[in-house]
Amino acid sequence: MLPSIFNVAMLSVSEVEKIILDLVKPFDPEFDSEILPLPQAIARILAEDIQSELDFPHWDNSAMDGYALCYADLENLQELKLAIATDEIPAGIAIAQRLAQGECMRIFTGGMLPVGADTVIMQEDTERIDNFLQLNIKPTQGEYVRRKGEFIKAGTTLLRAGTKLGATEIGALASARCQMVKVYRQPKIAIISTGNELVSLNSPQPLQLGQIIDSNLYAISTLIAQMGAIAIPFGMINDNKAKLEKVMQQAIAEADIVISTGGVSVGDYDFIDEILEKMGADIYVRSVAIKPGKPLTVAFLTSALNVNGSEDKVLYFGVPGNPVSAMMIFWRFIRGAIAKLNGSNESYWYPQFIKAIANAELNSQGRRETYLWGQLTYPKGKPVFQPVQNYSSGNLISAIGTNALAVMRINQTYVPIGDEVIVMLI
Ligand code: AMP
Ligand code: MG
Repeated sequence: MLPSIFNVAMLSVSEVEKIILDLVKPFDPEFDSEILPLPQAIARILAEDIQSELDFPHWDNSAMDGYALCYADLENLQELKLAIATDEIPAGIAIAQRLAQGECMRIFTGGMLPVGADTVIMQEDTERIDNFLQLNIKPTQGEYVRRKGEFIKAGTTLLRAGTKLGATEIGALASARCQMVKVYRQPKIAIISTGNELVSLNSPQPLQLGQIIDSNLYAISTLIAQMGAIAIPFGMINDNKAKLEKVMQQAIAEADIVISTGGVSVGDYDFIDEILEKMGADIYVRSVAIKPGKPLTVAFLTSALNVNGSEDKVLYFGVPGNPVSAMMIFWRFIRGAIAKLNGSNESYWYPQFIKAIANAELNSQGRRETYLWGQLTYPKGKPVFQPVQNYSSGNLISAIGTNALAVMRINQTYVPIGDEVIVMLI
């Protein structure tokens, strides 16, 4: 990587993505993990591989309500007809009775296959006549039997470290009798809102002319919570160098990543870069060829010595104050940084892009990689992107309901209605 001093020029989106991901050191499975009861591990990231202690299924069992039989018994029959054994096999019992030759046994879904049986015929394909079963079709051998160990064998890896625990993963861990799981701790993300114009949502005073509510705190905190991380608000700080520096120091000491909003443009009240320099930060990014979100500062600072005795480094994002710009930087860059930090496997570090049909004309000046917000829907099963009409990055209202961003590459100035466009999912 280049020394930070060289990166004063406007960098491309992919360069910045690479710089950020190269700077992030993932959590240590030993020191940055905790052991939680399974129900508390929802949406957390596994910090160790989990082996299955059991075969799945535990024993051969039926996938249907029907009759267990031995396929070979059907070979020489004139008529597909079997005697029905007196035993029945509901789920939950260990059947001791062996299936006698030429017989079948009533079995229910999840019921354990009796010794001597290898196939199940579902009841809809049969007719019961007294103690005999008429088979309306000839089953194939092994049909509707879930074999012991067919899903996974005991001793093999059920889930890998780095897996995010969603519904299927939590359910699979439960079925493997995994009561406690080792997961990475939640990253702590500090948020500092800067600007003389900001007022707290909780302020009882009426808004004065020139004042606005610190909405970035709430939007960014939501994005952080959705990543399974913890947002730590450090308050609204005036554009005052001494005050800002003090709060930035505190945030850097406490958090894994610091995000400040505002104060990174070229205005007279934009002090973040100056303070970072004074604090000895390595500044890797000062400006990105992205729209919205160009004045992005990315810096790396030493926070403290960690438990291993090595330096703890903190990633600092100075994001522009405009509400949609701030969210854009989060979607495009910060999300991936958190995903790498919290131990997620590499597939989570990058945004997902798909192709969609533009449902309206898309325009860009073509000088920066442009992200247009809007909605992706699937009428008739095909992805269609509907952009919003007003593209002011200061207009958060216009971004309500956004679930995707159309990406216009540098020099791409126009996409006609009905043409394909790359869309980033958020
Ligand atoms: P700045 O990046 O500081 O020049 O701010 C750009 C624009 O974003 C200005 O219109 C600010 O008023 C607005 N802004 C800055 N911080 C916030 C915030 N925390 N919440 C909402 N809007 C903000
Ligand atoms: Mg400002």
